[in-house]
Amino acid sequence: MASDRQVDGDRAWPCDDDDIPTFVTALGLPGLIDIHTHFMPDAVLAKVWAYFDRLHDPSGRPQWPIHYRTDETERLAILRGLGVRRFTSMFYAHKPGMAAWLNDWGVAFAADQQDVVHSATFFPEPGVDAYVAEAIEAGARVFKAHLQVGAFDPREPSLAPVWRRLADAGIPVVVHAGSGPEPGPYTGPEPMTDVLDAHPELTAVIAHMGAPEYAAFLELALRHPNVHLDTTMAFTDFMEVLAPFPDKLLGTLGDHPDRIVLGTDFPNTPYPYAHQLASLTGLGLGHDWLRAVCWDNGARLIGPPPADTDPGSGPRPDPRPVPSADVPRDGARSEKP
Ligand SMILES: [Zn+2]
Repeated sequence: MASDRQVDGDRAWPCDDDDIPTFVTALGLPGLIDIHTHFMPDAVLAKVWAYFDRLHDPSGRPQWPIHYRTDETERLAILRGLGVRRFTSMFYAHKPGMAAWLNDWGVAFAADQQDVVHSATFFPEPGVDAYVAEAIEAGARVFKAHLQVGAFDPREPSLAPVWRRLADAGIPVVVHAGSGPEPGPYTGPEPMTDVLDAHPELTAVIAHMGAPEYAAFLELALRHPNVHLDTTMAFTDFMEVLAPFPDKLLGTLGDHPDRIVLGTDFPNTPYPYAHQLASLTGLGLGHDWLRAVCWDNGARLIGPPPADTDPGSGPRPDPRPVPSADVPRDGARSEKP
């Protein structure tokens, strides 16, 4: 599983979660922005954890031990303690009648947590366009669609007005569209390719770099200026066993730092947060690339942290040139009504 690129001098950096604030400071960043973190009602999260608990490797050991299995207050404190200054509450529906209820929960959660981007979801069902419109009206600034868990076709006619609405509003939608770690009837590049052909302006963020169909989703991103890939679990030792990222695509990744955005799956990872960051560092694509991925692109997509939660508000301390240093700090897109 170790590949040549992991022998980079930065490979072990950051070693563990305690190193993350040093990592952030060394990059000259005010913190991290994570577009793919999971907060949801306790009962729903318990079901997600129960699913992962049932997975075992051939020797009978737990395959997916949840690293941050603790209560919500502590999970929020851990994430903030790592220096994550802006993050999402990705929840998703696996059956009809669930999304609008989850969206109501999301309104309250975002109202209570100023650094959380108000997140929402949808499912193909009667009334979907109306409740998506309501969620946007209530302040939702990022959506999540999970094609594997939801097992729905994103080309469903009921979703056409939803994609249109999100595209028109410029609101990003994080889509679990790849066939990893498990395929579904509508995962893989084809369904989202069709959606993007119909809605080429859509700001879509393909979760997990599109694993394992990395090449096809990267190509899709490069065909559409608003399509991004999130790093969630990609490049980690865990994912490299299941779906290794092809070394031959690294040059393209390095050439397009503006299309890759930090995501982690916190708290549901079978390893500490630092391992995701070390895996990105280990790609050897340089510090400008890391700055774009860990902050600038997230700030552009979901907005920078609100000023009142910003302990070090002000100009970026880093003297080195940064490609997207002109990210507006006062929020080109306002996050809270
Ligand atoms: Zn996720």
